[in-house]
Amino acid sequence: MSLSTIKNAIENGKIPCPTCQKPVKSFEKFVEMTESVWDGAGDSALETKGSKVTLICGNESCAWKERTEYWDQYIKN
Ligand SMILES: [Zn+2]
Repeated sequence: MSLSTIKNAIENGKIPCPTCQKPVKSFEKFVEMTESVWDGAGDSALETKGSKVTLICGNESCAWKERTEYWDQYIKN
């Protein structure tokens, strides 16, 4: 799951707000949770542990906001 995934989902209106059912309009504070991995054999890699984001409905008269690690569950296919 990456920043472009959530950007595309929002642009295409694929994240419905659980409160007003309209597509969520924005997000903020995308944080990629990574862990540096050193396997001792000459290779080091950055392993993605997931990401956290604050989803913001942004529709009129709706104040829904959610900071979540499981934002992919909000994306409707
Ligand atoms: Zn809403």
